[in-house]
Amino acid sequence: MAEPEEITFRSHPLEEYVQMIERFHGHLAPGVLLGGFMVELAYQQLPTEGLFDAISETPTCLPDAIQLLTPCSAGNGWLQVVDSGRFALTIFEKTTGAGVRVHLDADRLTPGSQLSNWFLKLVPKAEQDKAQLIEEIVQAGSRILSFRKVHVDLAGRRQKKGVKTQICPVCRESYPRDHGPRCRHCSGERMYYRDAS
Ligand SMILES: [Zn+2]
Repeated sequence: MAEPEEITFRSHPLEEYVQMIERFHGHLAPGVLLGGFMVELAYQQLPTEGLFDAISETPTCLPDAIQLLTPCSAGNGWLQVVDSGRFALTIFEKTTGAGVRVHLDADRLTPGSQLSNWFLKLVPKAEQDKAQLIEEIVQAGSRILSFRKVHVDLAGRRQKKGVKTQICPVCRESYPRDHGPRCRHCSGERMYYRDAS
């Protein structure tokens, strides 16, 4: 069979990356596979030397591709989600902000293909041909991606360091002092949970 060139994702061969996705993400998600092509394309445009941070513009799938293929993770703070709702990621030099943004170019999708139907959510998941979809992603690779050089606004995203903490007088848990005299929960801000009775 004619294999034009071996596909690698930050030096991981395709089969290996597929296994990494299954292990980390739970199943072979098309979006994480596609994200691998996006990360690889971004790195091809970046200098070989440097320390890079990453931004995913969606909380879905792309953060996992970034965490699998780069040193950036949500936990170490080098990966952030800036939710624009778009299927795009940016990898940039952490001290200068110089980077590359990659997005899926919907104009390059073949109308009616599994890939197009999946990306544009035109077909219910139950009616998708998953194997065909994966095959189309592998065949398309970076041909359906666009990239541009960008400059990330570091000042706007740099996290405050050295903020003092204090104990909330109401709940007795620690929180950043600059949030006010009480923690956000005890100041009445809506939380993601409520106490079970
Ligand atoms: Zn509190």
